This record gives sequence, C-alpha cells and structure tokens, in this order.
Amino acid sequence: MSTLQYIDTHTHIHFDDFDGDRKEVSDRMSDMRVGAIVVGTSLETSLQVVKLAKSVSNVWACIGVHPNTVENFEPINSRVNSGEIDMSKVVAVGECGLDYFRSDGTSKEERKRQQNLFKEHIEFAIQHRLPLMLHIRSGVGDDGKSAYDAHNDALKILQEYKKEHGGGLRFHCHFTTFGVDMAQEFLAIDERTTFGIPGVVTYKNAKDLQELVKWLPLEKILSETDAPYAAPVPHRGRRNEPVFVIDIVNAIADLRGEDREVTRKQLLANSQRVFNTNA
Ligand SMILES: [Zn+2]
Repeated sequence: MSTLQYIDTHTHIHFDDFDGDRKEVSDRMSDMRVGAIVVGTSLETSLQVVKLAKSVSNVWACIGVHPNTVENFEPINSRVNSGEIDMSKVVAVGECGLDYFRSDGTSKEERKRQQNLFKEHIEFAIQHRLPLMLHIRSGVGDDGKSAYDAHNDALKILQEYKKEHGGGLRFHCHFTTFGVDMAQEFLAIDERTTFGIPGVVTYKNAKDLQELVKWLPLEKILSETDAPYAAPVPHRGRRNEPVFVIDIVNAIADLRGEDREVTRKQLLANSQRVFNTNA
C-alpha cells in the first residue's frame, strides 16, 4: 500500500461481522488508502487485533477491556510483560472507561467494578506512555436525556490521575456524541484532549455533535467509524466498514465549511501526532 490518505482511528474489523469478507474489506482499504486502528474489547479480541495489525500494513492495534466486558485487565498486562503480546504496533490502550448505559450499569457494585478496571488501564497507559482510547457512555435521565453520570465519574478519575502524573496521562474521547459543554470539561483537564467523530455526525438529529465539530479546532478532531456499528449516511443502516470514514471526513469538512483536502490532510496528521500511526 502506498501513502495513506485517510485513517479510521477506531474500528473492529476483527469482529465476526467481517468473517465472510475480511479480505475484501481490507483490499478496499488498500485501494482507497485508508488505514485503521483496530480496537480490542477483551483479552481474546486484544490478542486478535495485535495479530491483525502485525499481518496488515497500515493497521495498528489498541488493547484493553471494554467496561461492559466482565474481565480483569491483568491477563493482558501479564502477557505484555512476558512478551507474548508484541507491543510494536500497539498505539493506544482501550477501549476503556465507563458505560452506565447498558444493563446493570446502574448498580453500585457494577459502577465500582468498572471504575477499578478503568484505573488499571490508566496505570498501564502511563507506564507504557500510550494514550487512552476512552469509551464513556452515560445512563439516561428521567427527562430522556443523557444523565452524564458516567462522564462525570470518568472526569473525576482522570482529574485525580492528572494531578499526580501531569503530561504523562494522555487521552482521546472515542465515539464523541456530546456537545461543546462536555468537551470543555475534558479540555479543562487536558487541553491536548482529542475527539473521535463517528458517522453519527452525518445524522440529521445530531445537532449538539455538529455544533461541537464546528466549534473545535481542527487539530483536536480525529475520524473514526466504530465499524461494524453506526454507518454514516449514505450507508446508514448497513454494516459499517473502514472505507466509509471517507464520508465522515467529507461531512466534517462540509460542516466546517473547509476544503475537503485540507481537512483530510489535517485529520491524518492528527492521528499521526496522537497515535503515532506513521505509515
Ligand atoms: Zn468500539
């Protein structure tokens, strides 16, 4: 593959949704010069993404345990220490954080479990000088809107570690759907915070997110699909895949009223800066 044109900074092409045509999906990425960071959600899938990244050029890996996966982080840590997990193409830690949206997320014990798991990821990321790939999803309040409970707890935890570790703690908000106010909370903790913009930005009702995309400096925006989920318009409702990140990058440029080529280049450079995804 020649030089990259686009990067999908969060994708799951190791999931079985792609078992039937993973080669074709990967060929389309080569043809369109789209790179990707494949993201683990458990020990098993973290091993898969490391293997995939090793075998495909312009694919990098992110390892960790999703907050809804009931597993400890230690088995990943010990495999890194023993050398069984090769870190050469691991560019981030996660997806990690807090998810109070899914079932059970409201019990006190479950919240505590997720918070402890999150802290293990933070300590590992600091030790290995890697950025965190944050997954934060809050419960829904009585008014039908986000309660921001998981966001507020995550901010508290990040703030604690920031006090102790300063610049050694770096994080990226994956699948950003919130608006300017919440983005400002993250930026107050670390002005280097970056935001992964998914296909949701192309949905008509995503007004807060669209406002955020217009408000943020372009240097703080990263493009992602979260494939197989959340395909952008005009693919909405179908299985998502990394090459659809092109539609997302174009939508970001159009929303901001900026040149598509300028936007494309800057988003690629942003990923190289944050995740060291240098082809
Ligand atoms: Zn994901």
